Amino acid sequence: AKWVYSFGDGKAEGASAMKNLLGGKGANLAEMANLGLPVPPGFTISTEVCTYYYANSHTYPADLQAQVEAALAQVGALTGRNFADPANPLLVSVRSGARASMPGMMDTVLNLGLNDVAVEAIATSSGDPRFAWDSYRRFIQMYSNVVMSIDHHNFEEILELYKDRKGFAQDTDLSAYDWTQVVAGYKDVVKRETGKDFPQDAREQLWGAIGAVFSSWMNQRANTYRRLHDIPESWGTAVNVQAMVFGNMGETSATGVAFTRNPSTGENALYGEFLINAQGEDVVAGIRTPQNITETARIGAKSDKPSLETALPEVFAEFVRATQLLEKHYRDMQDMEFTVERGKFWMLQTRNGKRTAKAALRVAVEMANEGLITRQEAIGRIEPASLDQLLHPTLDPKAPRNIVATGLPASPGAAVGEIVFDSDEAEALKSGGHKVILVRVETSPEDIHGMHASEGILTTRGGMTSHAAVVARGMGKPCVSGAGTIRVDYAAGTFTASGQTFKKGEIITIDGATGQVMAGEVPMLQPELSGEFAVLMGWADEVRRLKVRTNADTPADARVARKFGAEGIGLCRTEHMFFEESRIVAVREMILAETEAGRRSALAKLEPMQRQDFAALFEIMQGLPVTIRLLDPPLHEFLPHKPEEVAQVAAATGASAEKLKARADELHEFNPMLGFRGVRLAVAYPEIAEMQAKAIFEGAIEAQQKTGVAVTPEIMVPLVLSKRELDLVKARIDAVAVSVFKAKGVTLPYMVGTMIELPRAALRAGDIAETAEFFSFGTNDLTQTTLGISRDDAGSFLGSYVQKGILPQDPFVTLDQEGVGELVALAAERGRKTREKIKLGICGEHGGDPASIAFCERTGLDYVSCSPFRVPIARLAAAQAAL
Ligand code: PEP
Ligand code: MG
Repeated sequence: AKWVYSFGDGKAEGASAMKNLLGGKGANLAEMANLGLPVPPGFTISTEVCTYYYANSHTYPADLQAQVEAALAQVGALTGRNFADPANPLLVSVRSGARASMPGMMDTVLNLGLNDVAVEAIATSSGDPRFAWDSYRRFIQMYSNVVMSIDHHNFEEILELYKDRKGFAQDTDLSAYDWTQVVAGYKDVVKRETGKDFPQDAREQLWGAIGAVFSSWMNQRANTYRRLHDIPESWGTAVNVQAMVFGNMGETSATGVAFTRNPSTGENALYGEFLINAQGEDVVAGIRTPQNITETARIGAKSDKPSLETALPEVFAEFVRATQLLEKHYRDMQDMEFTVERGKFWMLQTRNGKRTAKAALRVAVEMANEGLITRQEAIGRIEPASLDQLLHPTLDPKAPRNIVATGLPASPGAAVGEIVFDSDEAEALKSGGHKVILVRVETSPEDIHGMHASEGILTTRGGMTSHAAVVARGMGKPCVSGAGTIRVDYAAGTFTASGQTFKKGEIITIDGATGQVMAGEVPMLQPELSGEFAVLMGWADEVRRLKVRTNADTPADARVARKFGAEGIGLCRTEHMFFEESRIVAVREMILAETEAGRRSALAKLEPMQRQDFAALFEIMQGLPVTIRLLDPPLHEFLPHKPEEVAQVAAATGASAEKLKARADELHEFNPMLGFRGVRLAVAYPEIAEMQAKAIFEGAIEAQQKTGVAVTPEIMVPLVLSKRELDLVKARIDAVAVSVFKAKGVTLPYMVGTMIELPRAALRAGDIAETAEFFSFGTNDLTQTTLGISRDDAGSFLGSYVQKGILPQDPFVTLDQEGVGELVALAAERGRKTREKIKLGICGEHGGDPASIAFCERTGLDYVSCSPFRVPIARLAAAQAAL
């Protein structure tokens, strides 16, 4: 079998379409070579070898070694150097490369092939002994860390001690001789820690590094990253072995990273950073603050060092040509790495760049307008869930800001939280309900879980492409990086800025759009939904078939939802209108009443409030459909528990507290979710449904008279299990309609429908549709009752069900398509058979979940209804489902 794929010198055995086999990095290196871009020659060991490695207790296919040797020989021929040749050694890099990019998650070894003899040869051939010995010490440290698990601090200690002894301040103060001394110390560390000498044999080094890269696929960082990004373990990683090129060979050498468009804002301008005389990892590690690529496209303060455009103009011109070619070729924004070795330009990597939601929108819309992609592709390129980042508040520009430092605007959005310096602690605080801001000098892949747990991230070192910045943008978290005036003292649990000291636990605000760091909490503003957002949503609206409504119980929710583009209300949960202090007493009075007269007197107090509520909703919705659900109280949420709550009801009704308490005890249920709720309440006490129907009709007439726009109320009956229940309630509603219309002298069209929330209702949908004019799938309850898993108690065990693969996802978040989904499809079919034009919607939490929305599209529902903040997500997901 073929395990190894070579590239270099304008051609390659691989191509970008072979990502599954070669990983993203390997496939793109091959593609760049095929495009004629200058790529250092090398080869990719395929992901199939990784699969083999794990299936065969960490061994390799028998013919792998010969293929690697042949590929090494080819690299040797192209570079004029030979691997393991003491006189003219070829040095290589060994890097991981999975199908999906997993930045910083797996291991890399550079300068491989160096040993005590090769270092002298490199010293001579480069004419730069200092460079040769500096490379050797970097290699020993990196290799020892990655392959032999020796902690970095062992090496850092040696270097610090040496510098102290010589009175050196910086690494650049060390001469070639100094590095030989440090190298000797490093080798002692290896001997001390492992009992063995540092491997001098280049082939032993190479196979050690290959094994380490394959093993790193299963390290904890990689596992966490895969879990967070839904990357299957079975994909495996490829290994890329490539001739080294050196960005650290003096003032005409450099290394950098760049994006064809700004990954934070999406602006169409080449944007990036580089370091003169540095190796690749120095830029991403964020230890030295880098220089800009171009003179014009920069964020934050102008670096006092020249741009690449000024420093190395010919290289810059060549690089610009490459970036334009790559963006056109891949038809997407590229994230690239390059190195300049003594004036010679090399491309090391390209991939589709990670970007903020804001940048993704701008890039997609502008690329469609430029004709680079179609509008449909633009729609398909936005992850619906990522819109969430844009729908959330930003800092109020008018609010006073106590700015204590300014860093780089690394990932937009504002965040407020308690200062925390440690990622484990951030995670612990988050699970205790705290909102935290992770403050670090810099972050590393070990901080992923802490970043995930934080509202935002603040670092004091590193540029726009530092680890913190890249990862935060990917997560959609606000981030300020490189706030260099802040001094962090981890040991004391404090930082100082602008002469103030901030302790762990104190509140700060960060603004990822400006890079500002502020003391205390700064008030936030609602988002502005214009520009590219509006354009892309407009394109989405043109292609989607599903309507998108909202679940709204208050005028405030309804207004937000309208702003987000909701096309009506799919669910107004009337019980939520009763939680207010002024109303709850009347509700309790109604529930606890022992006679119809008592209930009617309580209802009479509620009716005018309900009428106003409904009139307001109809008015805001301006003739769009509004579905109002009759009371569906899980009773226990309303029963008075505390003595003062009982006393309040007693005062309002004149009944004795003891009697009320006894009545409340009598109403106590063991399984309130399966108890006296939904339509069961209307069956027992029809006067409740009558009051609500009256309030709905009168509110609708009021709104219609005020706005002049026709209103067609939709009245929805919850938790039915048979047609008979619905018939009983509908008869009452119809009777109320007749009397209200007569009294007001106005007649309105209206609809009566039902929720499908019980398996029995789904099965009997055929007869229920004889009465129901619409169905709305209440998939929260339908999931609960189909799986027999309590929606309120699932938390304690559902996690392990997902982890063990019993359920693919939390079924309360993403519809269980094969179980609950089958009931939905069956009910839709049976309902339509009875009533061809029956209106079908969904209003459980799934109505805002993209995967569930795709299911609704396939099942041919008419609309989805979701919470206001999910409306744009649903609009986009519905469009993608229709493509
Ligand atoms: C449902 O059950 O899906 C639903 C929308 O109703 P509720 O969440 O109010 O029970
Ligand atoms: Mg329900």
